[in-house]
Amino acid sequence: GKDMTMSDDKVYNFSAGPAMLPCEVMCKAQAEFVDFRGLGYGLVEASHRGPDFMAVAEAAETNIRQLMGISDDYAVLFLQGGASLQFAMVAMNLMIPGKPALYADTGAWTTKAIKEAKLIGETKVVYDGSTSDYTVIGDVAEWPIDADASYMYLCSNNTIYGTEYHFFPETGDVPLVGDMSSDIMSRVVDVNRFGVIFAGAQKNLGPAGVTLVIIRKDLVERVPKNTPTMLKYSTHMDKGSMFNTPPTFAIYMVGLVAEWLQQHGGIPAIQKINEAKSDALYGAIDASDFFLGAAEPADRSRMNVCFRLPNETLEKTFVKEAAELRLTGLKGHRSVGGIRASIYNAMPMAGVSRLIDFMHDFEARNG
Ligand SMILES: *Cc1c(COP(=O)(O)O)cnc(C)c1O
Repeated sequence: GKDMTMSDDKVYNFSAGPAMLPCEVMCKAQAEFVDFRGLGYGLVEASHRGPDFMAVAEAAETNIRQLMGISDDYAVLFLQGGASLQFAMVAMNLMIPGKPALYADTGAWTTKAIKEAKLIGETKVVYDGSTSDYTVIGDVAEWPIDADASYMYLCSNNTIYGTEYHFFPETGDVPLVGDMSSDIMSRVVDVNRFGVIFAGAQKNLGPAGVTLVIIRKDLVERVPKNTPTMLKYSTHMDKGSMFNTPPTFAIYMVGLVAEWLQQHGGIPAIQKINEAKSDALYGAIDASDFFLGAAEPADRSRMNVCFRLPNETLEKTFVKEAAELRLTGLKGHRSVGGIRASIYNAMPMAGVSRLIDFMHDFEARNG
């Protein structure tokens, strides 16, 4: 075990979020931190309305639009308050009186979103995953999507339970809303199928502190007049995310990550790598009787791989020994236990391979 030779001394951080960022991005940010591109001061010290930050924000938006194929029918916003504020903002801005909002409950993050929506208006749960301990998403085509609904809400990747949608429901004219906090830009998604997509940056896009919101422009007009200014999408759309001071450093970092993705072949290329990484890890789990995958195989996440060992004592030892080998952040969410390996875009195959080598070695010693 401990004599296992490692090819490098890098730490591979499997934390669910804030999570690993590409090392090229970290190094570029470090190199530019004190003296931003010859300015003589740092970007964090620059006015958000000055030309230097404005250029950074515009380039970030342009790169995101190109990467995801976002048309001019959509606004791209950089907001604060995390994905959690979006749980309330979606309901406050999109609910139409007399038309229920539909929700698929596939885990803790949708449960929280449903709780917020109920504070605002009529809410219907079209799928209740709690009956299968959130290990299953199932056949979305069977869900009762009421054509008269305000919107249909789902969470595309369930960070805690390790499930992910591989098909999205057909919702016709009912706007589809997606919390994509933990799988945004990990795979090709047709943005045109959605009314709203949002994502806290700290899983797959950058550091904590900024939330990406992609919203079909016509939808911002639904908002009731008495909604507070900062909570209206229309405010942020009209002012290009500059109604108040935006989180300049976080937006800059998201821009660097988007640039990094562009340089590495965009989303189709990263999707292939993500498929190879998750196939390798699930392959190792399925080839052994010692490890047990947590989610229904058809609904498995390519971002958060959740699995169990024969007992909790072994799970504790596994997490501890892995950390000694510089494989960190593998402890499952406190609400479900077990092991969770979060393998977002920035996790290279080398990190996954080192984890699989450790799993084989651990099983040989404890199986
Ligand atoms: C982490 C996470 C959230 C919460 O994000 P905050 O930015 O902390 O509010 C919401 N949804 C999903 C899917 C997440 O993974």
